[in-house]
Amino acid sequence: MIVLKFGGTSVGSVENFRKVARIVQDCQEDKIIVLSAMSGVTNTLVSISELLRASKTKEALELINGLNQKYLVVAKDLLESDEGFYKAQIVLKKQHQVLLSIVEESFTIQNEKIVMAQGELVSTNLFQLYMEEIELESVLLSALDFMYIDKFGEPKSAVIKDRIGKVLANYSVNTFITQGFICRNEQNEIDNLNRGGSDYSASLIGAAVEANQIQIWTDIDGMHNNDPRFVDHTFSVKEMSFDEAAELAYFGAKILHPQSIIPAQESNIPVLLKNTFKPESIGTLIHNKAKVQKIRAIAAKDNITAIKIKSYRMLMAYGFIKKIFEVFEDHKTAIDMITTSEVAVSLTIDNTSKLKEIINELQAFGNIEVDSDLSIICIAGDLAQNKKGVTSAIFNGLKDIPIRMISYGGSNYNLSFLVKSIDKIAVLNILNEGLFKRLEIEVLQA
Ligand code: ASP
Ligand code: MG
Repeated sequence: MIVLKFGGTSVGSVENFRKVARIVQDCQEDKIIVLSAMSGVTNTLVSISELLRASKTKEALELINGLNQKYLVVAKDLLESDEGFYKAQIVLKKQHQVLLSIVEESFTIQNEKIVMAQGELVSTNLFQLYMEEIELESVLLSALDFMYIDKFGEPKSAVIKDRIGKVLANYSVNTFITQGFICRNEQNEIDNLNRGGSDYSASLIGAAVEANQIQIWTDIDGMHNNDPRFVDHTFSVKEMSFDEAAELAYFGAKILHPQSIIPAQESNIPVLLKNTFKPESIGTLIHNKAKVQKIRAIAAKDNITAIKIKSYRMLMAYGFIKKIFEVFEDHKTAIDMITTSEVAVSLTIDNTSKLKEIINELQAFGNIEVDSDLSIICIAGDLAQNKKGVTSAIFNGLKDIPIRMISYGGSNYNLSFLVKSIDKIAVLNILNEGLFKRLEIEVLQA
């Protein structure tokens, strides 16, 4: 069994639905297709919820009716047979009514979750009807029958495994379709795995059915070795380890939801990143057996703020860092990078919504300096500390770039450093020259 997950753009139009069906048709194995909502739909559903929360009924109704119109146009175009279009109209009418009845009721969190779930419910229904029309046998499964989360919002893996196993045993077809993102919670109510959660669904389903592979189909050729927006001649990385992928996921390598790697990694299921619009490209395989390679990829993250806390009280004292961390914890602000000296700590954050409060409280510990408009540069690869020459290969070329912080040795797969954002593009290009020239030639020749 393999799991194929298609993101919002992959099911974003009639033409794309057809592309997805072709990919599914070409896949000979038993499979479960996991779909996101059509692109833009979940955002519209969020807007509808916000309007309802603000009691702006008229505006919410406009969006709801607009969405319904959009779906009808898609369905009419996608489904050429009268029967197919008729069935789609039934689905769309039902969905429209769910939304309309929520407008009538008072706004609740539960109603919001029901609104949010509608995108995936529609995309999977339309796709299944299209499969029927082109005579590809498939069964539509409701993720609400097997995807369960606990009271902390964490997936209940054992329950998922048990339920999906029972559901699948009812059928003898080899193609199943289901929704990403949506699930049921402790109270058996409709819930979701948070924005972007369809990758997570795919990974959880893959683990539950002990899939041979989980394929994540998006609109890019897998993970690139560097940021193609700023660097010429980047190439997609053929393979990488789960650890490397996890290091890169935070750095805007948006193609994979960071959490989504965990179930696949724990169950040792390879994850293949593919491009729906270029199915012939080999994509990126994330697996435990990836051949060791010194430098795998470079990524950057902008809008980073660094905070330095300098205090002579820190010298030889214990418990100092704990107190500093508690300030960030109290303000629910994640720390990304950290470096320390004997008398100072520097750390970075990307969420500055509580920066003022944090600085106020940190002032009790020492002198505070704040720098903004910084970027973290992350280099992922086999960077184990027992290897020689790793850091010199990276820093040799950067002699003219001021570096604000360096973090190395935290894991065997990552070296990160902080630069001013205005230097980012130069840094990415210099590193590309120094670290990838030879690899690029190999890839071009392959
Ligand atoms: N449709 C959901 C979202 O846009 C889930 C997903 O696409 O992964 O967040
Ligand atoms: Mg997505």
